[in-house]
Amino acid sequence: MKKFKVLVVEDEATIQELLQFNLERVNYKVKVTDSGEEAIKQASKSNPDLILLDIMLPGTDGLEVCKTLKASSKTKNIPIIMLTALCEEADIVAGLELGADDYVTKPFSPRVLLARVKAALRRPNAATSENSEELITIHNIIIDLTRHRVTIDGNEIILTHTEFKVLKLMTTQPGRVFTRYQIVDAVHGEDYPVTDRSVDVQIVGLRKKMGEAGNYIETIRGIGYRFKEEDVI
Ligand code: CA
Repeated sequence: MKKFKVLVVEDEATIQELLQFNLERVNYKVKVTDSGEEAIKQASKSNPDLILLDIMLPGTDGLEVCKTLKASSKTKNIPIIMLTALCEEADIVAGLELGADDYVTKPFSPRVLLARVKAALRRPNAATSENSEELITIHNIIIDLTRHRVTIDGNEIILTHTEFKVLKLMTTQPGRVFTRYQIVDAVHGEDYPVTDRSVDVQIVGLRKKMGEAGNYIETIRGIGYRFKEEDVI
């Protein structure tokens, strides 16, 4: 089996150790650095499968690192999970909009962290998943991307074009948190401008039409929305 390489960028020694210990325990190859500059160098040199990135770093901070890595063709596809304090909502939103895949708030349980790492490693990245699929099947929902049809338990539900696009975006990368801006961005270019608040309205409409399956759309308070992943055995 492939041994995943994880780059840990964290300046607090105790958290570094905690991360390294738990990642190595599940057989990942771990590299640790406490500096943003070093992280950028390491990422392009050793091409890790995933980066755990603390946001509050001395010098080049995590957001800056994220921005740099996502701007480079060599490193932009490496999934990044940010490590943040719960109170850093604005940073979380900024990081997601810069292309980070996910975030975990400190203090975290190793079990939760590992689950998020595994999910990020498993998730197809946006660049490769965009054109390949014609059908998204998740939970009891089937989304036919060519015919723009959605069925839940075999029953068709009728969505507006915008609702369809929102659902498609979220189900293409289940488990990933999308900020309102990212959702607006993805459905933009339609016949009317979509604003932050109208994203909320779209979600309300979508949930209603989806009935119980609407609960798969989770609200992440202060951050955005996420489509619940299927349980992995
Ligand atoms: Ca820190």
